[in-house]
Amino acid sequence: MRIAIVGTGIAGMTAGYLLAPHHDLTIFEAGAHIGGHANTVTVERPHGRYDLDTGFLVCNDRTYPNFLALLAQLNVPLQESEMSFSVRCEKTGLEYNGGSLRGLFAQWRNLFRPSFHRMIRDILRFNREAPRLLDTDDEGPLLADFLRQNRYGREFVEHYLVPMASAIWSAKPDQMRSCPARYLIRFFQNHGLLSVNDRPQWLTVAGGSRRYVEKLTAGFRDRIRLKTPVVSVRRDHDRVTIRTLHAPAETFDAVIFAAHADQTLALLADPTEEERRILGAFEFQENDAVLHTDTTLLPRRRRAIAAWNYHLSAQPAERVCVTYNLNILQRITAPETFCVSLNPTQKIDPDAILKRINYHHPVFSRRAVAAQRDWPLINGLNRSYFCGAYWGYGFHEDGVNSALAVANSLSQCPLGKSGDCNSLSSVTPGEKAGVRGESDDSLSQCPPGKSAVSSDSLSPGTPGERVGVRGKSPHAIAEAPHP
Ligand SMILES: Cc1cc2nc3c(=O)[nH]c(=O)nc-3n(C[C@H](O)[C@H](O)[C@H](O)COP(=O)(O)OP(=O)(O)OC[C@H]3O[C@@H](n4cnc5c(N)ncnc54)[C@H](O)[C@@H]3O)c2cc1C
Repeated sequence: MRIAIVGTGIAGMTAGYLLAPHHDLTIFEAGAHIGGHANTVTVERPHGRYDLDTGFLVCNDRTYPNFLALLAQLNVPLQESEMSFSVRCEKTGLEYNGGSLRGLFAQWRNLFRPSFHRMIRDILRFNREAPRLLDTDDEGPLLADFLRQNRYGREFVEHYLVPMASAIWSAKPDQMRSCPARYLIRFFQNHGLLSVNDRPQWLTVAGGSRRYVEKLTAGFRDRIRLKTPVVSVRRDHDRVTIRTLHAPAETFDAVIFAAHADQTLALLADPTEEERRILGAFEFQENDAVLHTDTTLLPRRRRAIAAWNYHLSAQPAERVCVTYNLNILQRITAPETFCVSLNPTQKIDPDAILKRINYHHPVFSRRAVAAQRDWPLINGLNRSYFCGAYWGYGFHEDGVNSALAVANSLSQCPLGKSGDCNSLSSVTPGEKAGVRGESDDSLSQCPPGKSAVSSDSLSPGTPGERVGVRGKSPHAIAEAPHP
């Protein structure tokens, strides 16, 4: 089959890797680098050369099973990373690092702050009580309602839960409050964030994420066209026609959309009602990422500095303000501290700025989470397949799982063997693609599709279902404070 892939993030690259041996691929990438949010920047300094990750940074040994299996297939070396989370509040002067007892009380004043003790009590109560919400099947409350109904204190909400969740999802603090509570709690539970001891080991790709990108795409690098944004996609009964900015239109048998949902919908010349509804349910927000060496956004006290550092400004900020300390995360030894800060860019010394990048993140509203379940209603119809981390929790494992699901559904497309993609009935999560159910038991029932796909050691995921599945969905991040 002649297949076009739109986008080279983890989802597009994984789809390419799985399908390249069996199909004639053309991969369109709007940007100048392969990898999307996997974006390593090389910086030359008088004291050395550093490969710094500005987007995707970490994964872990618990909730990234398919991504890690992929890296193992490719012999990509990983190194242990330290994950810790700090908060610095300009208004109250509070600083703490949840990674250790020393960090929690980096500021002696915290010992005598009743509000700090209240926050710690609420953290322990939340860790204990919140999982009960997962026992029911109903939709459950939004996070803000859950916190109010259960009388969680302001300190816990404003200095712990919302900063941590906003940092994890790079989301606006207000948006986090409107996220379904079950979604967040399930995620926290899967990632050991509701426990003091039961934490996964966090990992980074040695030498930066570029190392895995190179290996993942080595077999089809010549099929990737950089700086070639797709501007429209038209699906007819016998072909897909793709237009890019500067070249004549080209036709394909099928198209895999691996750009974000809003970008994908904007490309469709002929969206169906279902595509409009489902893709239109996902919202994305913009974050300015700045790579720099200005440490003023980090906590003032050394012991409070963590891998992830949340900054609460005196004026309520609309967007998340978080600084990743790359020296800690990537284990970089250098005489200066390399940081990536999301959003408070005006506070950074312009002379210390090495690079600015604009990223878009999915917003997980109730509507978006519901739309994830409807993936089978559009995937595989009209010669079109949809992948991207936004079909899950928004992290690398989700990107891989969505690509596996697409590869599996494509393998069931008769055109892959003989005929016409339009006769493909949609893949139903949990049925055909062998998706994971809510328990680990279901994993053993997830054979890779009989396809094409050289994914023997990977378990196919299915968007919609993977939300919180396998007790192990992806993501990256901060450890909960160790009270
Ligand atoms: C700052 C930051 C830190 C993060 N940290 C982590 C982390 O530590 N761990 C983790 O698991 N996740 C992390 N994430 C989440 C990350 O977004 C996901 O893990 C994942 O990389 C998203 O992959 P994707 O393939 O869905 O989308 P993307 O990586 O965004 O790829 C989509 C691609 O489509 C291309 N595209 C869009 N429109 C077109 C078009 N019209 N034509 C052609 N190409 C197009 C884009 O240029 C882009 O390359 C982080 C994200 C950011 C921004």
